Amino acid sequence: MISWRRWRRISFLAFVFLFSMSTSCLYFIYVAPGIANTYFFMVQAQGMMLRDNVRTIGHMIRLYTNKNTTLNGTDYPDGSNSSEYIAQPTTYLPDNFTYAPNLPCPEKFPTMKGPIEVNMTEVLMEEVELKFSKYADVQSGGHWLPKDCKPRWKVAILIPFRNRHEHLPILIRQLVPMLQRQHLRFAFYVIEQTGTQPFNRAMLFNVGFQEAMKDLDWDCIIFHDVDHIPENDRNYYGCGQMPRHFAAKLDKYMYILPYSEFFGGVSGLTVEQFRKINGFPNAFWGWGGEDDDLWNRVHFSGFNVSRPDGDIGKYKSIPHHHRGEVQFLGRYKLLRYSKERQHLDGLNNLKYVPEVTLSSLYKNITVSLSPEQAPIPDY
Ligand code: UDP
Ligand code: MN
Repeated sequence: MISWRRWRRISFLAFVFLFSMSTSCLYFIYVAPGIANTYFFMVQAQGMMLRDNVRTIGHMIRLYTNKNTTLNGTDYPDGSNSSEYIAQPTTYLPDNFTYAPNLPCPEKFPTMKGPIEVNMTEVLMEEVELKFSKYADVQSGGHWLPKDCKPRWKVAILIPFRNRHEHLPILIRQLVPMLQRQHLRFAFYVIEQTGTQPFNRAMLFNVGFQEAMKDLDWDCIIFHDVDHIPENDRNYYGCGQMPRHFAAKLDKYMYILPYSEFFGGVSGLTVEQFRKINGFPNAFWGWGGEDDDLWNRVHFSGFNVSRPDGDIGKYKSIPHHHRGEVQFLGRYKLLRYSKERQHLDGLNNLKYVPEVTLSSLYKNITVSLSPEQAPIPDY
Protein backbone atom coordinates (compact mmCIF):
# COMPACT_ATOMS: atom_id res chain seq x y z
CA MET A 1 0.00 0.00 0.00
CA ILE A 2 1.29 3.49 -0.85
CA SER A 3 1.08 5.71 2.16
CA TRP A 4 -0.99 8.86 1.93
CA ARG A 5 2.11 11.00 2.42
CA ARG A 6 3.99 9.21 -0.37
CA TRP A 7 0.97 9.45 -2.65
CA ARG A 8 0.82 13.18 -2.01
CA ARG A 9 4.48 13.56 -2.88
CA ILE A 10 4.11 11.59 -6.12
CA SER A 11 1.10 13.57 -7.26
CA PHE A 12 2.87 16.82 -6.39
CA LEU A 13 5.90 15.80 -8.48
CA ALA A 14 3.63 14.68 -11.30
CA PHE A 15 1.88 18.01 -11.20
CA VAL A 16 5.20 19.90 -11.34
CA PHE A 17 6.33 17.69 -14.22
CA LEU A 18 3.13 18.14 -16.23
CA PHE A 19 3.05 21.85 -15.55
CA SER A 20 6.61 22.37 -16.77
CA MET A 21 5.82 20.27 -19.86
CA SER A 22 2.79 22.36 -20.65
CA THR A 23 4.59 25.71 -20.25
CA SER A 24 7.50 24.61 -22.41
CA CYS A 25 5.00 23.25 -24.89
CA LEU A 26 3.19 26.56 -24.99
CA TYR A 27 6.50 28.38 -25.28
CA PHE A 28 7.51 26.12 -28.13
CA ILE A 29 4.28 26.80 -30.01
CA TYR A 30 4.94 30.50 -29.48
CA VAL A 31 8.50 30.47 -30.86
CA ALA A 32 8.16 27.72 -33.49
CA PRO A 33 7.27 29.99 -36.42
CA GLY A 34 10.27 32.18 -35.63
CA ILE A 35 12.61 29.18 -35.44
CA ALA A 36 11.29 27.79 -38.72
CA ASN A 37 11.71 31.19 -40.36
CA THR A 38 15.29 31.57 -39.17
CA TYR A 39 16.05 28.04 -40.35
CA PHE A 40 14.76 28.63 -43.89
CA PHE A 41 16.57 31.94 -43.93
CA MET A 42 19.89 30.34 -43.01
CA VAL A 43 19.48 27.55 -45.55
CA GLN A 44 18.94 30.15 -48.24
CA ALA A 45 21.85 32.19 -46.89
CA GLN A 46 24.23 29.25 -47.13
CA GLY A 47 23.27 28.74 -50.77
CA MET A 48 23.97 32.41 -51.42
CA MET A 49 27.34 32.24 -49.72
CA LEU A 50 28.42 29.35 -51.91
CA ARG A 51 27.28 31.12 -55.05
CA ASP A 52 28.98 34.31 -53.89
CA ASN A 53 32.30 32.53 -53.41
CA VAL A 54 32.13 31.07 -56.88
CA ARG A 55 31.36 34.51 -58.25
CA THR A 56 34.26 36.10 -56.36
CA ILE A 57 36.68 33.53 -57.73
CA GLY A 58 35.33 34.13 -61.23
CA HIS A 59 35.74 37.83 -60.72
CA MET A 60 39.36 37.50 -59.56
CA ILE A 61 40.15 35.44 -62.65
CA ARG A 62 38.54 38.11 -64.83
CA LEU A 63 40.56 40.84 -63.09
CA TYR A 64 43.86 39.03 -63.63
CA THR A 65 43.20 38.06 -67.22
CA ASN A 66 41.72 41.33 -68.48
CA LYS A 67 44.61 43.68 -69.25
CA ASN A 68 42.32 46.63 -70.00
CA THR A 69 40.78 46.77 -66.53
CA THR A 70 41.21 50.23 -65.11
CA LEU A 71 41.37 50.29 -61.37
CA ASN A 72 43.03 53.65 -61.16
CA GLY A 73 41.43 55.07 -58.08
CA THR A 74 38.96 57.23 -60.00
CA ASP A 75 36.40 54.44 -60.36
CA TYR A 76 34.77 52.66 -57.49
CA PRO A 77 36.39 49.27 -57.15
CA ASP A 78 34.75 46.93 -59.59
CA GLY A 79 32.08 44.77 -58.02
CA SER A 80 30.77 41.48 -59.24
CA ASN A 81 27.96 43.16 -61.13
CA SER A 82 29.80 44.98 -63.89
CA SER A 83 26.56 45.84 -65.72
CA GLU A 84 26.22 48.59 -63.10
CA TYR A 85 28.76 50.58 -65.07
CA ILE A 86 26.47 50.86 -68.03
CA ALA A 87 23.73 52.33 -65.86
CA GLN A 88 26.01 54.60 -63.82
CA PRO A 89 28.80 55.81 -66.04
CA THR A 90 29.67 58.94 -64.03
CA THR A 91 33.12 58.68 -62.59
CA TYR A 92 34.20 59.71 -59.16
CA LEU A 93 35.13 63.36 -59.53
CA PRO A 94 38.47 64.84 -58.59
CA ASP A 95 38.38 67.49 -55.85
CA ASN A 96 38.85 70.47 -58.16
CA PHE A 97 36.04 69.54 -60.55
CA THR A 98 33.75 72.45 -61.34
CA TYR A 99 30.07 72.12 -62.04
CA ALA A 100 27.36 74.68 -62.66
CA PRO A 101 23.88 75.41 -61.27
CA ASN A 102 22.37 74.68 -64.66
CA LEU A 103 24.10 71.31 -65.05
CA PRO A 104 22.84 68.05 -63.56
CA CYS A 105 24.64 67.05 -60.39
CA PRO A 106 26.90 64.04 -60.89
CA GLU A 107 26.05 60.80 -59.12
CA LYS A 108 29.46 60.53 -57.55
CA PHE A 109 31.14 63.24 -55.56
CA PRO A 110 34.56 63.45 -53.96
CA THR A 111 32.77 64.18 -50.70
CA MET A 112 31.18 60.74 -50.82
CA LYS A 113 33.96 58.92 -49.05
CA GLY A 114 32.46 55.48 -48.63
CA PRO A 115 32.14 54.03 -45.13
CA ILE A 116 30.62 56.51 -42.71
CA GLU A 117 30.32 56.53 -38.97
CA VAL A 118 27.07 55.11 -37.66
CA ASN A 119 25.80 56.75 -34.53
CA MET A 120 23.09 54.63 -32.94
CA THR A 121 22.87 56.50 -29.66
CA GLU A 122 19.41 57.81 -28.93
CA VAL A 123 18.73 61.47 -29.50
CA LEU A 124 15.72 63.74 -29.18
CA MET A 125 14.00 64.75 -32.41
CA GLU A 126 14.15 68.38 -31.25
CA GLU A 127 17.93 68.20 -31.12
CA VAL A 128 18.14 66.84 -34.66
CA GLU A 129 15.65 69.45 -35.85
CA LEU A 130 17.65 72.25 -34.34
CA LYS A 131 20.86 71.01 -35.90
CA PHE A 132 19.53 70.66 -39.43
CA SER A 133 17.11 73.58 -39.67
CA LYS A 134 19.70 75.95 -38.28
CA TYR A 135 22.93 74.74 -39.80
CA ALA A 136 22.03 72.57 -42.75
CA ASP A 137 19.39 74.68 -44.48
CA VAL A 138 16.71 71.97 -44.27
CA GLN A 139 13.19 73.33 -44.83
CA SER A 140 10.00 72.11 -43.18
CA GLY A 141 9.05 68.54 -43.99
CA GLY A 142 12.77 67.74 -44.15
CA HIS A 143 12.87 69.24 -47.62
CA TRP A 144 16.26 70.13 -49.08
CA LEU A 145 17.73 70.71 -52.52
CA PRO A 146 21.24 71.46 -53.74
CA LYS A 147 21.89 74.95 -55.07
CA ASP A 148 25.17 74.43 -56.89
CA CYS A 149 23.83 72.04 -59.54
CA LYS A 150 20.54 70.59 -60.76
CA PRO A 151 19.59 67.59 -58.61
CA ARG A 152 19.45 64.44 -60.69
CA TRP A 153 16.57 62.98 -58.68
CA LYS A 154 13.71 64.34 -56.61
CA VAL A 155 13.49 61.71 -53.90
CA ALA A 156 10.63 61.15 -51.46
CA ILE A 157 11.78 59.00 -48.54
CA LEU A 158 8.82 57.08 -47.13
CA ILE A 159 9.09 55.62 -43.61
CA PRO A 160 6.39 53.24 -42.29
CA PHE A 161 5.87 53.81 -38.62
CA ARG A 162 4.18 52.73 -35.42
CA ASN A 163 5.60 53.14 -31.98
CA ARG A 164 9.29 53.34 -32.87
CA HIS A 165 9.85 56.87 -31.62
CA GLU A 166 13.42 56.34 -30.55
CA HIS A 167 14.44 55.11 -34.03
CA LEU A 168 13.21 57.99 -36.17
CA PRO A 169 15.64 60.74 -35.06
CA ILE A 170 18.57 58.31 -35.34
CA LEU A 171 17.65 57.56 -38.96
CA ILE A 172 17.08 61.18 -39.97
CA ARG A 173 20.31 62.27 -38.30
CA GLN A 174 22.17 59.79 -40.52
CA LEU A 175 20.29 60.39 -43.77
CA VAL A 176 20.28 64.19 -44.04
CA PRO A 177 24.06 64.73 -44.33
CA MET A 178 24.40 61.65 -46.54
CA LEU A 179 21.72 62.78 -49.00
CA GLN A 180 23.14 66.28 -49.03
CA ARG A 181 26.54 64.91 -50.00
CA GLN A 182 24.79 62.98 -52.77
CA HIS A 183 23.27 66.24 -54.05
CA LEU A 184 19.73 64.88 -54.22
CA ARG A 185 16.55 66.84 -53.69
CA PHE A 186 14.66 65.10 -50.90
CA ALA A 187 11.99 65.18 -48.19
CA PHE A 188 10.80 62.70 -45.56
CA TYR A 189 7.32 61.22 -45.13
CA VAL A 190 6.51 59.30 -41.97
CA ILE A 191 3.37 57.23 -42.45
CA GLU A 192 2.02 56.26 -39.06
CA GLN A 193 -0.57 53.53 -38.57
CA THR A 194 -3.22 53.89 -35.87
CA GLY A 195 -6.11 51.59 -35.02
CA THR A 196 -6.09 48.06 -33.75
CA GLN A 197 -5.24 46.10 -36.89
CA PRO A 198 -1.87 44.37 -37.32
CA PHE A 199 0.83 46.54 -38.84
CA ASN A 200 0.64 46.86 -42.62
CA ARG A 201 3.96 48.16 -43.90
CA ALA A 202 3.00 47.80 -47.55
CA MET A 203 -0.32 49.64 -47.33
CA LEU A 204 1.43 52.45 -45.45
CA PHE A 205 3.85 52.79 -48.35
CA ASN A 206 0.94 53.02 -50.79
CA VAL A 207 -0.65 55.75 -48.68
CA GLY A 208 2.68 57.57 -48.37
CA PHE A 209 3.16 57.43 -52.12
CA GLN A 210 -0.26 58.94 -52.88
CA GLU A 211 0.24 61.67 -50.30
CA ALA A 212 3.79 62.54 -51.34
CA MET A 213 2.74 62.93 -54.97
CA LYS A 214 0.31 65.65 -53.90
CA ASP A 215 3.27 67.79 -52.79
CA LEU A 216 5.64 67.62 -55.71
CA ASP A 217 6.32 65.62 -58.84
CA TRP A 218 8.83 63.38 -57.08
CA ASP A 219 10.49 61.07 -59.56
CA CYS A 220 12.10 58.55 -57.20
CA ILE A 221 10.53 56.94 -54.16
CA ILE A 222 12.57 55.27 -51.42
CA PHE A 223 10.80 52.79 -49.14
CA HIS A 224 12.79 52.94 -45.92
CA ASP A 225 12.47 50.95 -42.70
CA VAL A 226 12.95 53.24 -39.73
CA ASP A 227 15.57 51.01 -38.13
CA HIS A 228 17.93 50.62 -41.10
CA ILE A 229 20.94 52.93 -40.85
CA PRO A 230 23.18 53.11 -43.94
CA GLU A 231 26.88 52.64 -43.36
CA ASN A 232 28.19 53.93 -46.68
CA ASP A 233 27.52 57.31 -48.25
CA ARG A 234 28.21 55.98 -51.75
CA ASN A 235 24.93 54.10 -51.49
CA TYR A 236 23.32 56.55 -53.89
CA TYR A 237 19.63 57.08 -53.13
CA GLY A 238 18.72 57.97 -56.70
CA CYS A 239 16.66 55.62 -58.86
CA GLY A 240 17.63 53.86 -62.06
CA GLN A 241 16.38 51.99 -65.05
CA MET A 242 15.60 49.11 -62.73
CA PRO A 243 14.04 49.03 -59.25
CA ARG A 244 16.79 49.04 -56.67
CA HIS A 245 17.38 47.14 -53.47
CA PHE A 246 19.62 49.32 -51.32
CA ALA A 247 19.80 47.24 -48.13
CA ALA A 248 21.79 44.38 -49.60
CA LYS A 249 24.00 43.69 -46.56
CA LEU A 250 22.54 43.88 -43.08
CA ASP A 251 24.55 43.43 -39.92
CA LYS A 252 21.70 41.36 -38.47
CA TYR A 253 22.13 38.85 -41.32
CA MET A 254 25.92 38.82 -40.94
CA TYR A 255 26.21 41.11 -43.98
CA ILE A 256 25.07 38.49 -46.44
CA LEU A 257 22.00 38.67 -48.57
CA PRO A 258 19.72 36.11 -46.91
CA TYR A 259 18.28 34.91 -50.23
CA SER A 260 18.60 36.22 -53.75
CA GLU A 261 14.99 37.42 -53.95
CA PHE A 262 15.30 39.42 -50.71
CA PHE A 263 13.84 42.90 -51.27
CA GLY A 264 13.28 44.12 -47.70
CA GLY A 265 14.59 46.98 -45.58
CA VAL A 266 15.27 49.73 -48.07
CA SER A 267 14.20 49.72 -51.71
CA GLY A 268 13.54 52.33 -54.37
CA LEU A 269 11.52 52.67 -57.56
CA THR A 270 10.86 55.49 -59.96
CA VAL A 271 7.32 56.82 -59.84
CA GLU A 272 6.77 55.34 -63.26
CA GLN A 273 7.99 51.89 -62.18
CA PHE A 274 5.90 52.02 -59.00
CA ARG A 275 2.74 52.91 -60.92
CA LYS A 276 3.42 50.21 -63.47
CA ILE A 277 3.60 47.48 -60.82
CA ASN A 278 0.44 48.84 -59.10
CA GLY A 279 2.39 49.68 -55.94
CA PHE A 280 2.64 47.41 -52.93
CA PRO A 281 -0.02 44.79 -52.10
CA ASN A 282 -2.47 45.91 -49.38
CA ALA A 283 -3.34 42.42 -48.21
CA PHE A 284 -0.34 41.69 -45.95
CA TRP A 285 -1.37 42.26 -42.32
CA GLY A 286 1.44 41.71 -39.82
CA TRP A 287 5.11 40.91 -40.25
CA GLY A 288 6.47 39.41 -43.45
CA GLY A 289 5.86 38.65 -47.10
CA GLU A 290 5.01 42.07 -48.51
CA ASP A 291 8.59 42.64 -49.66
CA ASP A 292 8.65 39.26 -51.43
CA ASP A 293 5.38 40.16 -53.13
CA LEU A 294 6.93 43.42 -54.32
CA TRP A 295 9.83 41.43 -55.76
CA ASN A 296 7.31 39.28 -57.66
CA ARG A 297 5.43 42.32 -58.95
CA VAL A 298 8.63 43.91 -60.17
CA HIS A 299 9.58 40.77 -62.11
CA PHE A 300 6.08 40.13 -63.49
CA SER A 301 6.26 43.66 -64.91
CA GLY A 302 9.47 42.88 -66.77
CA PHE A 303 11.96 44.57 -64.43
CA ASN A 304 15.05 43.27 -62.71
CA VAL A 305 16.42 44.48 -59.40
CA SER A 306 19.79 46.18 -59.12
CA ARG A 307 21.86 46.36 -55.94
CA PRO A 308 24.85 48.38 -54.79
CA ASP A 309 28.20 46.68 -55.23
CA GLY A 310 30.38 45.25 -52.53
CA ASP A 311 30.18 46.93 -49.15
CA ILE A 312 28.26 49.95 -50.42
CA GLY A 313 24.96 48.33 -49.46
CA LYS A 314 25.87 47.80 -45.80
CA TYR A 315 23.36 48.73 -43.07
CA LYS A 316 23.21 48.52 -39.34
CA SER A 317 19.80 47.74 -37.90
CA ILE A 318 18.71 49.18 -34.59
CA PRO A 319 17.94 46.23 -32.32
CA HIS A 320 14.30 45.97 -31.28
CA HIS A 321 11.69 43.59 -29.94
CA HIS A 322 8.51 42.46 -31.62
CA ARG A 323 6.32 42.93 -28.57
CA GLY A 324 2.66 43.01 -29.49
CA GLU A 325 3.42 42.58 -33.20
CA VAL A 326 2.15 39.58 -35.10
CA GLN A 327 3.62 37.49 -37.88
CA PHE A 328 1.52 37.27 -41.00
CA LEU A 329 1.06 33.53 -41.31
CA GLY A 330 -1.09 33.77 -44.43
CA ARG A 331 1.77 35.21 -46.43
CA TYR A 332 2.83 31.99 -48.16
CA LYS A 333 -0.65 31.45 -49.53
CA LEU A 334 -0.88 35.02 -50.82
CA LEU A 335 2.56 34.79 -52.38
CA ARG A 336 1.42 31.84 -54.48
CA TYR A 337 -1.08 34.16 -56.18
CA SER A 338 1.13 37.25 -56.54
CA LYS A 339 0.50 37.41 -60.25
CA GLU A 340 -3.27 37.08 -60.05
CA ARG A 341 -3.48 39.70 -57.29
CA GLN A 342 -1.06 42.23 -58.77
CA HIS A 343 -3.62 44.21 -60.73
CA LEU A 344 -6.49 43.69 -58.28
CA ASP A 345 -4.74 44.88 -55.14
CA GLY A 346 -2.40 47.83 -54.84
CA LEU A 347 -2.60 51.51 -55.70
CA ASN A 348 -5.83 50.96 -57.64
CA ASN A 349 -8.08 49.65 -54.83
CA LEU A 350 -6.88 51.80 -51.94
CA LYS A 351 -9.11 54.16 -49.97
CA TYR A 352 -7.99 56.00 -46.88
CA VAL A 353 -8.54 59.16 -44.85
CA PRO A 354 -5.23 60.65 -43.77
CA GLU A 355 -4.44 63.16 -41.07
CA VAL A 356 -1.51 65.23 -42.25
CA THR A 357 0.77 67.38 -40.11
CA LEU A 358 3.96 69.09 -41.13
CA SER A 359 6.94 69.19 -38.80
CA SER A 360 10.47 70.46 -39.32
CA LEU A 361 12.08 67.30 -40.58
CA TYR A 362 9.20 65.27 -42.01
CA LYS A 363 5.59 65.27 -43.00
CA ASN A 364 3.53 63.02 -40.75
CA ILE A 365 0.67 61.11 -42.33
CA THR A 366 -1.42 59.36 -39.71
CA VAL A 367 -3.86 56.81 -41.01
CA SER A 368 -6.05 54.14 -39.53
CA LEU A 369 -6.01 51.00 -41.67
CA SER A 370 -8.37 48.08 -42.06
CA PRO A 371 -8.95 45.48 -44.80
CA GLU A 372 -12.19 47.16 -45.96
CA GLN A 373 -10.09 50.06 -47.22
CA ALA A 374 -8.57 47.90 -49.94
CA PRO A 375 -11.31 45.54 -51.11
CA ILE A 376 -10.21 42.72 -53.39
CA PRO A 377 -12.68 41.01 -55.70
CA ASP A 378 -12.51 37.21 -55.80
CA TYR A 379 -9.96 35.72 -58.12
N1 UDP B 1 7.34 49.13 -38.14
C1 UDP B 1 6.96 50.03 -37.15
N2 UDP B 1 6.25 49.57 -36.08
C2 UDP B 1 5.94 48.26 -35.93
C3 UDP B 1 6.33 47.36 -36.91
C4 UDP B 1 7.03 47.81 -38.00
O1 UDP B 1 7.25 51.21 -37.25
O2 UDP B 1 5.30 47.92 -34.93
C5 UDP B 1 8.02 49.63 -39.36
C6 UDP B 1 9.41 50.16 -39.09
O3 UDP B 1 9.72 51.13 -40.04
C7 UDP B 1 10.26 48.92 -39.28
C8 UDP B 1 9.57 48.26 -40.47
O4 UDP B 1 8.19 48.57 -40.30
O5 UDP B 1 11.59 49.22 -39.53
C9 UDP B 1 9.80 46.77 -40.56
O6 UDP B 1 9.31 46.10 -39.41
P1 UDP B 1 10.26 45.36 -38.38
O7 UDP B 1 11.39 46.25 -38.00
O8 UDP B 1 9.41 44.87 -37.27
O9 UDP B 1 10.80 44.15 -39.24
P2 UDP B 1 12.13 43.28 -39.03
O10 UDP B 1 13.24 44.18 -38.65
O11 UDP B 1 11.83 42.33 -37.95
O12 UDP B 1 12.32 42.63 -40.35
MN1 MN C 1 13.46 45.97 -37.87
